[in-house]
Amino acid sequence: MSPPERARKTFDLSRHITAAVGAQKAYVPGDQPSESGWVKLNTNENPFPPSPRVAAAIRAELGTDAASLRLYPNPASAPLRAAAARYHGHGLGAENVLAGNGSDDVLNLLVRAFADASKPAGMLVPSYSLYPVLSGLNAAAMRTVPVGLDGVFDTAAVAASGANIFFLTNPNAPLGIAFAPEKIAEVLEAFDGLLVVDEAYAPFARADAVPLLTRFPNLVVTRTFSKAFALAGIRAGYALADAAVVAALDKVRDSYNLDRLAQAAAVAALEDRAYYDGITAEIKRARDAASAALRGLGWRVLPSEANFLMASPPSAVGKTPAETAAAVHAFFKSRKILVRYFPSNPVTAPFLRISVGSAREMETLLAAAAASADADSSSSAADAADAAPR
Ligand code: PMP
Repeated sequence: MSPPERARKTFDLSRHITAAVGAQKAYVPGDQPSESGWVKLNTNENPFPPSPRVAAAIRAELGTDAASLRLYPNPASAPLRAAAARYHGHGLGAENVLAGNGSDDVLNLLVRAFADASKPAGMLVPSYSLYPVLSGLNAAAMRTVPVGLDGVFDTAAVAASGANIFFLTNPNAPLGIAFAPEKIAEVLEAFDGLLVVDEAYAPFARADAVPLLTRFPNLVVTRTFSKAFALAGIRAGYALADAAVVAALDKVRDSYNLDRLAQAAAVAALEDRAYYDGITAEIKRARDAASAALRGLGWRVLPSEANFLMASPPSAVGKTPAETAAAVHAFFKSRKILVRYFPSNPVTAPFLRISVGSAREMETLLAAAAASADADSSSSAADAADAAPR
C-alpha cells in the first residue's frame, strides 16, 4: 500500500535567503556555445593549445588508472606557489603566493577578506563587471572612479573613494589600455587601502606591477592561467602579495581549492616559459595586425596591450554609434562570429570587444567587418533588438 498523498511543504525562499544574495543579480559570462562551428572571439581565450608539457603533466598525474584521484590534492597547492614565486623572481617566495581556482576565485577571496557592509570596495568604470557582483554578495558598497577612453583616471579620486579594497584592472578590461607602472605606484602611495592590480592580461603588455610588490605591502597582483597560458578550461590563477595578506586569504579559501590536475597543469605551464613567450609574441603580432586592418576599414580601435581589441565600427547612416555597434554585433552573430558587446555603459556601447584568435579566425572576422558596412545599409532596427548581450 502506498502512503497517503501529502501536500508538498511550502518554503518561501525570499524570506530565508540573505539580503545580500537575494538582491544580487548573477554575473553573466560570455556565451560558451555547445555546438561547434562558431568563431569564438568573445571571452579572450587563447587560440593556441597549452604547452605540450601540460598534457604530459596531466597524464603523469593521472597514470594509467587515475588512482591518484582517490587522494585529496596538496591543500595549499604548495608546488604551484613555489613555481609561481620562481617564475616571477623579484625576491618573491612561496609565502607571497596564493593559488586559486581561476583568478575569479582569488578575487572572491579578496572581497570576502577585505570588504563588507562597513568596508566598501572600489573599481574603475569601465572595468571587470565581476567585481560589483562579488562585493554585492558580501554586502559591501562599490565605489567607482571613471576611466576615460584615453586611459586617464584621477589618482586622488581613488584615494578619496573611501574604498577599503580597490580593483585596478591592468591592462584594463574591456578597454585593453595599460596603465604605466609609475601611475600604479602613484595610486599605491596615495591610497590607504589594499590595491588589487588584476593582471589577467599583463603577459600581453609591455610592463606589469610585480616589481612594485617589494615597495608596497598594500599591493596585490592577481594572475590567471586562462589567457596567456591557454588553460581557461583548467581553472587556475594566483595572487602575489605580502605574506601577511596571503595568510589572511588562506583563512578564507576552501581547504582544497585546486584539484590535482589543475595544480599539475599550472606548474608545467610556468616551467615552459620559452613556449609561452613564442605564442604570446604571435598573439601580439596578430593583435596589432588586426588593429591596423580594422582602422583601415574606418573603425576606431583603442590601443591594446591585451589579447583583445576594443573597437568601434564607423557609424552607419541614420544610426548612433551604439546602434551601429549593436547592429554589427548582430551581423557577426548571424555569421556565427561571437564578440562581446557592453551596451549598458554609454562609454562602451559604441564598441565591440574582439578577442585575438587564430590567423584564420581573424581573417573571417575582418571579412565580416568589411561586409558589415554593406550589410548595414540594408539592415533594419530589428538588428539592434537582437543584439542584447547574453
Ligand atoms: N580578471 C579579468 C579582468 C578578466 O577579464 C577575467 C576573465 N573573465 C578574469 C579576471 C578571470 O579569469 P579566470 O577566473 O579565468 O582566471
